[in-house]
Amino acid sequence: MSKKPGLTVLAGPTAVGKGTVSTYIRDNYPEVWLSVSATTRAPRPGETEGVHYFFKSADEFDSLIADGQLLEWAVVHGRNRYGTLRSTVEAAIAEGKSVLLEIDLQGARQVKEAVPDANFVFLAPPSWEEMVRRLVGRGTETPEEQQRRLETAKLELAAEPEFNHTVINDDVQRAADELVSLMGLTPHQR
Ligand code: 5GP
Repeated sequence: MSKKPGLTVLAGPTAVGKGTVSTYIRDNYPEVWLSVSATTRAPRPGETEGVHYFFKSADEFDSLIADGQLLEWAVVHGRNRYGTLRSTVEAAIAEGKSVLLEIDLQGARQVKEAVPDANFVFLAPPSWEEMVRRLVGRGTETPEEQQRRLETAKLELAAEPEFNHTVINDDVQRAADELVSLMGLTPHQR
């Protein structure tokens, strides 16, 4: 793909609330064209095919890769595969839409290779302490698992300088509004 100013990529550490921000955008900003990814993960209750994800079998996902249909893809959390469908994103950009990809850091790096002049936005936690609270707060993980998550979070936070902008997720609505303005759109009055 060549110069695509209509493309914004939102990425950031695990548990920073990317999903919450993109859900807010889906529900409140119809002027943003939020990409629907393909995944091999099973649907969760309340998730709809074509709205939250395109749910694929491992074989179907293999075919998407083999046919060059994915702009980027990654194994996330060492388990399931997720990828961005190239044709739908390219068509939306060609139609002049403001396109948003909410993907993981590995995927963001692949998009940077393919579309260097896209807009890359890093979603960051308000503080390291808040990050620790969100990662270990539920108390359901073993100390080893908590430690592993914190090590991963440290590595992920170090990716911030690779991005054009940072948005702090201190409040979902505020963060979403800031993201929308970074996309060149007007945040809604409330
Ligand atoms: P979840 O399974 O909770 O919906 O998403 C898990 C993770 O997958 C999130 O960090 C999300 O950013 C990432 N993800 C969702 N779609 C894509 C995609 O198309 N590509 C990549 N690389 N990551 C994705």
